Amino acid sequence: MHGHERDGLEILHRAPVDMNGFLGADIPSSDFITNCMHCGLCLPTCPTFSLTGLEKSSPRGRIRLMKAVTEGTMAITEGFVEEMNFCLDCQACETACPAGVKYGALVEASRAQIYEQGRASWLEGILKMFFFGYVFASKRRLRLLSKFLRFYQQSGLENILTMTGAMRLFAPKLAKLQRLSPRIDKTFFDESLPEIIRPAGEIKHRVAFLSGCIMNVAFSEVNRDTVEVLLRNGCEIVVPRTQECCGSLQAHNGDIESARTLARKNIDIFSMFHFEAVVMNSAGCGAFMKEYGKYLAEDDRYSEKSRAFSAKVKDLTEFLVSINFEKPSHSLNARVAYHDACHLAHAQHITAEPRAILKAIPGIDLVELPEAAWCCGSAGIYNVVRHDDSMKLLERKMHNIGTTGAEIIVANNPGCLSQMNYGLNIYKMHGEVIHIATLLNRAYKQ
Ligand code: SF4
Ligand code: SF4
Repeated sequence: MHGHERDGLEILHRAPVDMNGFLGADIPSSDFITNCMHCGLCLPTCPTFSLTGLEKSSPRGRIRLMKAVTEGTMAITEGFVEEMNFCLDCQACETACPAGVKYGALVEASRAQIYEQGRASWLEGILKMFFFGYVFASKRRLRLLSKFLRFYQQSGLENILTMTGAMRLFAPKLAKLQRLSPRIDKTFFDESLPEIIRPAGEIKHRVAFLSGCIMNVAFSEVNRDTVEVLLRNGCEIVVPRTQECCGSLQAHNGDIESARTLARKNIDIFSMFHFEAVVMNSAGCGAFMKEYGKYLAEDDRYSEKSRAFSAKVKDLTEFLVSINFEKPSHSLNARVAYHDACHLAHAQHITAEPRAILKAIPGIDLVELPEAAWCCGSAGIYNVVRHDDSMKLLERKMHNIGTTGAEIIVANNPGCLSQMNYGLNIYKMHGEVIHIATLLNRAYKQ
């Protein structure tokens, strides 16, 4: 074994690792790595660099590490795994990059390498295998687990284990997970509505809706608000009963084959219906479904279908603005701040549309949140597997929220909603963190 140190990490000489196989045909990974001019403009936007001040925890440093792995001058070491997992995949560096480096695709390709080589830590390995490879791979299993969790939350068992301190003593990691996990709803969203929902008046648009995995079982009210907003705007909505999770959690954590399998299933299921757009209310899911075309670019049977499907995927705010949505006429007197979810602002470049909708609600005093597009620390399961780092980012976010004096914080991603509501709780702050569909529907119903 030959080795030396670079950026504090062990560099080993090994066979080159081909990252291209993990990316779509139109994402030449080595080109994107080569594109990096090492200018460092991305560094001030990187939350993990802000936590450590270390080059290896910055986008530029990580790109150097990925380059070394790609060129075979470095093995996938523990240090490499650590840096890839420390990254939030928030893609703020992509927004800042003048050279168009597709950092998100690169880090996901690296995680795929790590996953394939079984190099994740034991806890992460188990969590990822169980949740992403098994539970989230099937809506039926997710539903079963959610019912079990609901029983645990509502039967009093959770209170007993928490109040006696038993959970913290015997399963400290689970205790953290429990504090952060959303409350499971009494009725899941897809149990409460028919597969096709029609507006009372004229049908102006036909859309499909992804009910989501977590959104379906823990944010069913947000989904219902979304449906009511779409109905109000003359949409007929199809919510395919047999739809699967979008696959984003799997892809972001390195299990790209499982993500592709889910993408193929969803394309087949949704294609049984007629619609002009697939409307999304979860930033992470929307960003990933817009990438189906890239992930399946080399699949002869799905390359065209997936591209056509991705072209129809629209975030709720993007869709509403495109159809010139109905402006509410009644006033909602409230000071509101908007948090840009990473996968909406950085991955989909949607920042103007949510603000345009909020400004259209009479009586709302929209204040700009300092560092609105800075990650809140949720980032999938980051707040569980890297709890301490996540909490430092949450503290920064909650401090910024506190400076606005806003009583309503709007965020359009389930992870951000849970994380910042948790922040309100631990910092004993007043207010609420809600989805834009909830606020808009509130204004419509006034
Ligand atoms: S901003 Fe772009 S080109 Fe500059 S160091 Fe960062 S990734 Fe490289
Ligand atoms: S994705 Fe986010 S955390 Fe990762 S390197 Fe880029 S800015 Fe930093």
